[in-house]
Amino acid sequence: MSKILIIEDEEAISDLEKDYLELSGFEVETTSRGDQGLQMALKNDYDLVILDLMLPGIDGFEVCKRIREKKNIPILMVSAKKDDIDKIRGLGLGADDYMTKPFSPSELVARVKAHMARYERLVGAGQKENDIIEIRGLKIDKTARRVYINGEEKNFTTKEFDLLTFLAENPNHVFSKDELFRRIWNMDSVGDIATVTVHIKKIREKIEYNTSKPQYIETIWGVGYRFKI
Ligand code: CA
Repeated sequence: MSKILIIEDEEAISDLEKDYLELSGFEVETTSRGDQGLQMALKNDYDLVILDLMLPGIDGFEVCKRIREKKNIPILMVSAKKDDIDKIRGLGLGADDYMTKPFSPSELVARVKAHMARYERLVGAGQKENDIIEIRGLKIDKTARRVYINGEEKNFTTKEFDLLTFLAENPNHVFSKDELFRRIWNMDSVGDIATVTVHIKKIREKIEYNTSKPQYIETIWGVGYRFKI
C-alpha cells in the first residue's frame, strides 16, 4: 500500500486530507510540526509528502529543500496564500506540485494519484532507460529536446541543449571548459573555449532563479563546471 506523509499544523485540514486519502486506499501518517515531518520523511519510506508552508519548528520551504537533498519522492506543497505559491516556484526548491488552500479533497486525491503514478513509472522504468531527466524543478525531455523549469518550457539552442543534457547526465562530475568544448562541439581543443562560458551563461539565465547563486550548474573556480544533484 502506498504511504503518504502529511505535514500540516491545521488539524481540520490535516484530518480532511487524511480521511479522503485513506478512503482512496492510501496509508497516511500525519504530523503537525515541520521538524518532526522532516525527520519522518528522511527516516521512513513514503511514496509522497503533502507539505504545508507555515509550520511550527521548521517552515515548509526548509523542509522541502532538505527532503529534496536526500530523496526524490514527490512533494506536494500547500499554502493559504497564492503569493507564497509564486515564491515557492521562484525558489525552485524542487516541489513537484503546489495547491492553494482551500482546495477540494477530490482535487487533492487526483493530484496525489497522478504524481504517484508518474513517480512509479520513473522508478520502475529505471532512470537510465527513460528519456526524461528530472532534477528538482528542471525537466529535460531528451526525445523531444525540450527543457522545462517548474513546468514552464524554455527555448534552448541545439548546443545549449546538448551542453545542459551532457552535464545533467553526468552529475557531480567536474568538467573543464576544454573537455566540454571537445565533447559538445566535437572538435579538438583548438577552438574558442570562451564559447563554453557564453553557453553556460545563457543556460543559467534560462534555468536558474538566481544566476549569481546557481543551484544546477556550479562554477568550480579554476577548473570548470559541475552539475549539482
Ligand atoms: Ca500552517
